[in-house]
Amino acid sequence: MFKITAIPAFNDNYIWAIHNDSVAVVVDPGDATPVLRFLEAQGLQLRSILCTHRHADHIGGIEQLRGVYNVGVYGRSHPNNPYINHNLREGDTVVLDDFELAFNIIEVPGHLNDHIAYYNDEILFCGDVLFGAGCGRNKEGTLAQLHHSLERLSLLPGATRVYCAHEYTVANIRFALACEPSNSALQQRALAAQSLREQNLPTLPSSIALERNTNPFLRCDQPEIIDTLKHRGLADDSPLGVFTTLRTWRNQF
Ligand SMILES: [Zn+2]
Repeated sequence: MFKITAIPAFNDNYIWAIHNDSVAVVVDPGDATPVLRFLEAQGLQLRSILCTHRHADHIGGIEQLRGVYNVGVYGRSHPNNPYINHNLREGDTVVLDDFELAFNIIEVPGHLNDHIAYYNDEILFCGDVLFGAGCGRNKEGTLAQLHHSLERLSLLPGATRVYCAHEYTVANIRFALACEPSNSALQQRALAAQSLREQNLPTLPSSIALERNTNPFLRCDQPEIIDTLKHRGLADDSPLGVFTTLRTWRNQF
């Protein structure tokens, strides 16, 4: 048995901890301090670290954590992320014996070229590629790659729980409602997310089904979204054309 707990970090990051009563694995520890505090408060030993990508707010705590716990670090090797000692590629598997848990690795470029995600039939750790009702910024590579990565994630089973690395959901929903104001699932999600944030609770994990029903970046074929964008000058209404226009508009929203 295991639990997955959000450790808040910085302004809006979540460092996800998979843990039982004695051991923990953390995902994207951008800051060691809140992780060490969590481990101490819960009486847990750190067993390993999973990384989705090499941005500082995801890896910045690894060196200090490894100074305390000499654990394996899974992810993609890169000169800017020298901590990785288990290099991962598409199709690899990570087995966490403590929790009888295994993850498949999927390469999801478009935020960074070497961004990876961890998934199984129930759980997805998607870093900065897919967010609650939104998606990551295109920092490297092409928008076509980001679109393709999101399409692949959207094909996971609907019940898959989606553990994103940032609490951006409320702001993303505001944009999503501007794109698709008549979407009743989105309207409901807006109320639910608002209520959770008022209680200082995470809006995450979400699910692939909820994202498919409310996330405009996974809904590039929806008539209302296309119509909204046509009023803003959309010429190319192919899914990639819609996605490109959505992502560009979101940057200025
Ligand atoms: Zn990032």
